[in-house]
Amino acid sequence: MASTDKTSTPCTAAASACKPQDPSESSVKDGPAAWVARAFDILNADPPEAHRLATAAKAAADPDSSLGGRARHALGMTECMLGRFAEGCATLLDAAETLHRHGPVLDECRAWRDHASVLSLQAGDAQAAVKAFERALALAESVGDLTEQATVLSRMGPVLGHSGQAGDACRVLQRAVALLADGPDRASYANALDNLGYQLIRQGDYAQALPPLRAEVALRDLARDRLAWANGQSNLAIALAGTGQADEARAIIDAVRPVLNAATDTYQWPDYLMSAGAVNLLLDKPEAARVLLRDALAVARQSGMRMVEVDALVQLSTAEERCGDLAAALQCERALRQAERQWLDEQTASRVQVMEASIELAEKRAENQALDKARAELEQRVEERTAELQAQMRERDTAQRLARFWSDHDWLTRLPNRRQMQALLESQLQAAEARGGQMGVLFVDLDGFKAINDAHGHLSGDRLLRLTARRLRQHLPPGGTVTRFGGDEFVVLLPDLAQAADAAQAADRLRTAVLAPLKLDGRVVSLSCSIGVAIGPRDAATPNELLRCADRAMLEAKGGGRNQVRELDAGGQDRLERRGRLRRELGEAIDNGRLSAVFQPLWSLRHGCLAGVELLARWHDPILGWVSPADFIPVAEESGQISALGLWAVREAVAAALALQAAGRWRDDTPGRPGMRVSVNVSTVQLADTQLVQRLSEAVQEAGGQPGWLELELTESVQLAEDPAYQQRMRHLREAGFTLAIDDFGAGYSSFSYLNRAYFDRLKIDRALVHAGSEAADRSAVTGSIILMAHRLGLQVVAEGIETAEQIGLLAEQDCDIVQGYHIARPMPLADLLGWQPSRP
Ligand code: C2E
Ligand code: CA
Ligand code: CA
Repeated sequence: MASTDKTSTPCTAAASACKPQDPSESSVKDGPAAWVARAFDILNADPPEAHRLATAAKAAADPDSSLGGRARHALGMTECMLGRFAEGCATLLDAAETLHRHGPVLDECRAWRDHASVLSLQAGDAQAAVKAFERALALAESVGDLTEQATVLSRMGPVLGHSGQAGDACRVLQRAVALLADGPDRASYANALDNLGYQLIRQGDYAQALPPLRAEVALRDLARDRLAWANGQSNLAIALAGTGQADEARAIIDAVRPVLNAATDTYQWPDYLMSAGAVNLLLDKPEAARVLLRDALAVARQSGMRMVEVDALVQLSTAEERCGDLAAALQCERALRQAERQWLDEQTASRVQVMEASIELAEKRAENQALDKARAELEQRVEERTAELQAQMRERDTAQRLARFWSDHDWLTRLPNRRQMQALLESQLQAAEARGGQMGVLFVDLDGFKAINDAHGHLSGDRLLRLTARRLRQHLPPGGTVTRFGGDEFVVLLPDLAQAADAAQAADRLRTAVLAPLKLDGRVVSLSCSIGVAIGPRDAATPNELLRCADRAMLEAKGGGRNQVRELDAGGQDRLERRGRLRRELGEAIDNGRLSAVFQPLWSLRHGCLAGVELLARWHDPILGWVSPADFIPVAEESGQISALGLWAVREAVAAALALQAAGRWRDDTPGRPGMRVSVNVSTVQLADTQLVQRLSEAVQEAGGQPGWLELELTESVQLAEDPAYQQRMRHLREAGFTLAIDDFGAGYSSFSYLNRAYFDRLKIDRALVHAGSEAADRSAVTGSIILMAHRLGLQVVAEGIETAEQIGLLAEQDCDIVQGYHIARPMPLADLLGWQPSRP
């Protein structure tokens, strides 16, 4: 019953037509081109060696070249041969696209054609496969290569057939047959005939199927290719049975049986059983057909051949019905629906995998390109800089002194450069803090410098910068330093201020000095500057923050009309002060129990009950009022207070669990239904703590609870995905008895790859995705496929931020397990939680 495309794996079929492209190349003794040719040659015989060669060739060849494309073509094929279909499929697509840019056309054609084969057979994506085949076909036609056209057509036909386009399938295969009829490649001709006959049988055109199948059988040789022979004979028997030639059909099908081996002919044996079943059905022997088809079904199921399973169920249901066993027929129909659904699920999952692999490839490529570019730029800069240095060296005494000088000075103005400025700023700020004094940072930016540069040219611009540097230096208060920050920006450091106001005064003197008229290209011009002032540690505690303050103040000076000196405006000060206060007060709030916890219910859609509660921190400060966790959690993370906050949260969570238990609102794990947990947010920063597991376990124990009562919510992040230390910590947390959830999935760094590692029980889809999902149909496909993938990995799914009944409906349809959000309940104090009942489940 099988068409030849099923009698071999996609790769053996594809590889047979992938000979080295250019014979002159295979004569090249060594090097990537030869490796690629050899990889194609031994693809079937020795896949691991072919893979090694292709990998080496890919590494050696320019990725954006014809050879690079061919190397990836070979690599993609070997990946498929080694069972990594998603990766292989993505690599082949990449190869095809590269060859599209660089040619030659025939190579591109072959890459599309192989990509299409893998797509149809492994990802089950017939539509995309047909598109790729059509592309390959157009290319083969454009260069007039008849053999290649026939190859593409032969492979495209069965795909069309399987996706229900039987008419197109036959037309395509007829073309293939016509192209191959007089050619030298008899094997391909026989295969094309076989595929055509098979499609005609599927359509029920038994009479039309007879001539091609007879022609095929005449070409097959039992001694040379047993399997192909058996396959051709089986198909012929069906066509004969369909045209009423019962005796010949029966004789053939009986003759084929002893040729095949049930134990080793994995694909052919169930196919034979199917064919024999079909023959018996056509000859009106449903009882005999039923026995054969049941066998076929059992074998297909055993070896996971979903397509054969579906075909067998279709036929078996007919056979049962014709035997009068309607109950068995109905059972077949049911099994058929289930098999079809599973098949669809598997195809969807592999399509998602192919997509993920493609995205990964594209990201890697972009990264490499960026790296190459950065390297080239760096090399160029190094060259330029070396040239500069060499020019200067002739004027100076020793090269060494020069090199040292230029590493921390600006070449144009000879002022200390940004690097030196940063080092100075750091030490001066530290010193000021140590003696309880203050230091000033002035950010100087020339007004309208760009206009002068454009009008008078770069040489004049450079002269102007040098002149400004000199003026700043001349009018600097004692002890101060002028540095060049970059472009037309200078930073002045005043390490020791008697009082904060001195900084603004010094700044004003500098502003006036810069403003003095000067002669440029014979004309008198006057240039103003805007200066921003920041005082450390008053305005900021770290060098970078202090610099940012000064920069912001400078921008405010510009905004205020230029030629001005500005300190941070009141609003800016307020913001800084608020942050400073947050940092100072937070520690105290944690220690003195001024944080409070609220709880938000998680509602199980599956069981219609409370699935748990999430603990959320709240802080009321006597001066600042209610502070949002969105504000104070980052501060806590930055200042290291997050560790104490985390322990507080764990203790509160245990207290809540105990209270729920006392109120009879708790539920333990039962088979098939996980019990309740109190979810606690754990920041990625906490995971950096090597003592985390021990600390949390102790806190739970001291509070009288068990780790199993808590679920720790970790926000997905790069560290979580890639850092082995973080992964080890997650494992230890699990071993200690905690359950883990991924929080905010889809908000930033999203990857299914690390979900596989089995640390997590639950996945929480970020609010933004849930909201987007209820707005646009294609977005809701995203939540749908996340849910599907998560279930496949054995994770429960929580959708966050549910605000409408409509969102619940959509998520319930997508089989989401649990929902959380204002529509169910807002976060509430523990006392309210104990009596809470859902008003709108
Ligand atoms: P999260 O973990 O994603 O928590 C859910 C946030 O969404 C909470 O904001 C919650 O009040 C809010 N929310 C819940 N349902 C809805 C809804 O239907 N619509 C909208 N628009 N929002 C909803 P909250 O309490 O402001 O917390 C913000 C974030 O602060 C949390 O995001 C969490 O990352 C962090 N956080 C809160 N408490 C803690 C804590 O104790 N430790 C740590 N490390 N982080 C915490
Ligand atoms: Ca959370
Ligand atoms: Ca969340």
